[in-house]
Amino acid sequence: MSETHQVIILGSGPAGLTAAVYCARASLSPLVIEGPEPGGQLTTTTDVENYPGFSKGITGPDLIQEMRLQAERFGSTFVRGLVNKADFNTTPFSLHLGERQEKAHIVIIATGATAKTLGLAKEKELMGFGLSTCATCDGAFFKDQEIVVIGGGDSACEEALFLTKFGSRVRVVLRRDQFRASKIMVQRVLDHPKIEIIFSKNLVDLLGDRKTGITGGILEDTKSHEKIEIECNAIFYAIGHQPNTALFKDILEMDENGYLITQPNSTRTNVPGVFACGDVQDHVFRQAITAAGTGCMAAIEAERYLAGH
Ligand code: NDP
Repeated sequence: MSETHQVIILGSGPAGLTAAVYCARASLSPLVIEGPEPGGQLTTTTDVENYPGFSKGITGPDLIQEMRLQAERFGSTFVRGLVNKADFNTTPFSLHLGERQEKAHIVIIATGATAKTLGLAKEKELMGFGLSTCATCDGAFFKDQEIVVIGGGDSACEEALFLTKFGSRVRVVLRRDQFRASKIMVQRVLDHPKIEIIFSKNLVDLLGDRKTGITGGILEDTKSHEKIEIECNAIFYAIGHQPNTALFKDILEMDENGYLITQPNSTRTNVPGVFACGDVQDHVFRQAITAAGTGCMAAIEAERYLAGH
């Protein structure tokens, strides 16, 4: 039987790593279980221009690497693995990673969120063959080619701008006649000579196969329902995210979209000793800095909880 940890942190994005820095500095020697996407969504972001302290900006992977080194410096340990079962009925809590089991007095959940897809028939076949949810990862494959981005939020704008480095043209397809993104991002997109906007259309089919890769898509007008074919070599989805909470179904309280519910001004979940921070409990702000902020809150609340028990 392995030792019982004071604190286990699930997830290694800005929320989990900030919680690790604070827990480690409080001598709680946290174990961080990194999960299937170490570093979280920031590792698939390009330049981060709005994280305080970096006046010239910093790349997402560099920011994560710095946070990780900082957490390690004070005594956090890291393991990779996918937790497939959580038991919060008895204390210490237990987390199962296949055959392996880890126990802890406190669990901090920072499992983040995952990119959404449209559920189209050919998605599985074409993911990685011209279809992608990550411009940073796959953009460079489409040099001087026709690229389409689906979505009208900040992510879609950010991805479209990034993809102009590679594509001959980037078309952004929105299902509404207006953007959801912030004004500054919309302006940058509108001002870019390589970007074109297609409003009020849904992508309803993907064209191509694994041999050809994506060759295009079918767009349906949201009002007239007229369908048109659009030719392209790559389609990037940027339509939001799903919180990674399947593991906690029927264990922790969630809202109708699956986000963990925390108490007001707190990271406490409905189970005493289990805290949640970052995008897994935040569908409003979803920023690296707010994730880091709630990670800090979770660590401080964890420390106080341990002191009181
Ligand atoms: P959002 O939820 O903000 O936007 C999702 C976009 O995808 C919307 O335009 C939405 O359309 C569209 N969409 C959703 N489902 C579908 C669908 N089935 N078919 C077609 N379109 C669809 O998600 P983001 O990932 O863009 O952003 C998440 C958060 O992260 C936001 O708070 C954002 O501000 C922040 N962010 C900030 C960045 C920055 O500041 N640099 C960069 C990236 C993200 P509709 O508008 O019609 O609902």
